[in-house]
Amino acid sequence: MSPQLSPAQKQQFGDDLQARRSTLNGQRDAYLDGSSRAEHARAVLLQDGDDATQRDAEREVDFARTDRDAVALAEIDQALQRLASGHYGQCITCGDEIALARLQLAPQAARCVACEALRERGAPKPATL
Ligand SMILES: [Zn+2]
Repeated sequence: MSPQLSPAQKQQFGDDLQARRSTLNGQRDAYLDGSSRAEHARAVLLQDGDDATQRDAEREVDFARTDRDAVALAEIDQALQRLASGHYGQCITCGDEIALARLQLAPQAARCVACEALRERGAPKPATL
């Protein structure tokens, strides 16, 4: 299989991934900081309007968000590893090339569209976390 990505494109995706990585790390630090956390909760309340029950959920929401960030970070790290090992841009499930447009949208994508759709629809979720 001939690689679809030029060294320059790989470089670009690598830079993009690194940038996303530091953004996520920065957000994570902010969420874990008490005062920023409270500020964020207030901002969320202001943004999302009038639902009083949201106050009860705000802690959970923040934790969920931190979890999601952790998952996103892991995906980015894995993408950077694939970049380093020369497997970047290949679906980890079927080995097909991941469409360039998809990578441009989500450079951390590990699967082609077909495999991702299958995974989201069908497969039982592994019992992590
Ligand atoms: Zn695939």
